[in-house]
This record gives sequence, C-alpha cells and structure tokens, in this order.
Amino acid sequence: MIKQRKNSNQPENLISRRNFLCSIAASAATFAIGTYCAKGDTNDAPKTSGIDFPLIDFHVHLEKEMTLEKAVQLSNKLGVKFGIAEHGGFRQIVDGDDTLKRYIESLEGHPFYKGMQAEGLDWMKCFSKDAVAQLDYVLSDALTFPEKDGRLIRLWTPKVKIEDKQDFMDRYVDFNVLVISSEPIDIIANPTFLPLSIADEYDTLWTEERMKKIIEAAVKHDVAIEINSRYNIPSSAFIRMAKSAGVKFSFGSNYHGENIGRLDYCLKIAKECGLTQKDMFMPKPYGMKPIQKRTFDS
Ligand SMILES: [Zn+2]
Repeated sequence: MIKQRKNSNQPENLISRRNFLCSIAASAATFAIGTYCAKGDTNDAPKTSGIDFPLIDFHVHLEKEMTLEKAVQLSNKLGVKFGIAEHGGFRQIVDGDDTLKRYIESLEGHPFYKGMQAEGLDWMKCFSKDAVAQLDYVLSDALTFPEKDGRLIRLWTPKVKIEDKQDFMDRYVDFNVLVISSEPIDIIANPTFLPLSIADEYDTLWTEERMKKIIEAAVKHDVAIEINSRYNIPSSAFIRMAKSAGVKFSFGSNYHGENIGRLDYCLKIAKECGLTQKDMFMPKPYGMKPIQKRTFDS
C-alpha cells in the first residue's frame, strides 16, 4: 500500500496555496515516463506505458519560469497532454468573467485543455454560467477546511495539528461531500489528502465507510476523482472501490514549474487497479458542463 507522502518539502510561513506550490516546484526530481507517441495528441494512446488511454495531466499550474512555450516543449517531450488549472474564485487570479475570458484567450493556439481550480464554496458567484462553460473543466478540492469556529484551515500546511482524529475525519468527509455536492465541478482534486501530522495513519483513518461516502457523492453528482501524483493519493483500496462504483478518474500532478506532467504514481496505480480508457475522465462538451447541467446556489 502506498501511503500519502509525508516528506513533501512543505515550507513554513505560508500565505497562500499558490506560494506554497511555487516553492514545491523548486524541488525537481528526475522523471522519465517513457517514450510515447502522444505529442499532445489525445487520440494516440501511449505506446510503452502499458495503458490504453492517452496520458493527460489535468492539474497543471503554470508559473513565470514555465511559460506556455516551455510547457508545450515539455508536454511533447513527456508525451503527456496538459490541462492548465488557473486558480479561480473570489480574490483569485481569475475572479470574474473578464479575467476568465482573458485567461482562456491566453491559452488559445496552444495544445492544452483549459481548466480552472476553483477556490471556495462560492466561486460560482464570480462568474456567469456561460463564461465558465467556455472552460474545458473545473476542478476543486476540500483542502481549505472550515473549523468548528469558522476559521479556514489550510490542510496542506505542515503545522496543522489535529486534536481529535476521528472527529476531524468525520467532519472532513462531510466537507468533501459538501464540495462535491454543492460546487458544479468536473473533478475533485487531491482526494483523501491528510494533514502531515496524521498522514502516517492514512490506511486506518480512511475506513471503508468514509471512503464510501465520498465515492457515493462522486457517483451521484458525476464528479471525477483525481489520482494525484504529488501526494500519491488516493490509495489503491479507494480507487478499486470507486472504480467498481463507476467513478471516472483523472490524472493530476498538481505541480508548478518543471515538474508538471510527472504522473508516475498515477500510471503505477492505474495499472495496478486495472484502469482502462472507459474509467477515465474526459472534458464534457459545451451544453453538458456541470455549470450548465447542475443546480447550485448562485
Ligand atoms: Zn492545484
């Protein structure tokens, strides 16, 4: 069983998720996923990867040093197509129809999917439905977690302390279900992530009952579950349970900078769990987007 990585180079004194992820990207590791034929073309399945579907990293964050042009080169080199997930919502880089439109235009002419990582339960209120529907997909996660007193806890920061693990887990599962059921998203990202202080207990804390609640919500609302190659999550037990429930999966590195497209865990666990093309998420066509089909508070 592969556990969530504990030594993820988590820095101190964090202000934002963005800053945090920037610093993570600096820790490069050599990674070669094989020689594929994809060249950004999703119709070509990788020849040497042992899977029957094209490799797509739907959770890519671009930074200054990783320009669009460099990302195209890297995508071709790795044989991994990229989906760019700019941060969107209140107080985010993309915070309304105008900035969303400019962001989408900035990706025109490049072989990338246009995505957005939504922040906050209320991100939908920043945009018109049609503006969001111009994106290929929207992903969100449950890592900005509301404590009982209303404080928002950034679960990915290293100093997060959990006093009552069982109580936290129950509330965390409920929050995951809330994100999946109240936000019109395509993908739930960083699923089953645990704060560093309890990450060692991943297999014990993620009981079958807790996994089932998240999986049932994903099935009910047709939300795909990300397999995340930065934190090595979710576990094969979770993926097998989700697969048999009919959930779709996406691959996501959640990296910034030069590590984008690193999908080693995704590839390994997908093979282990027997995932095939029919299990994999692909962006829905215009008219079928969650923002257009689902009901939510706007
Ligand atoms: Zn992200």
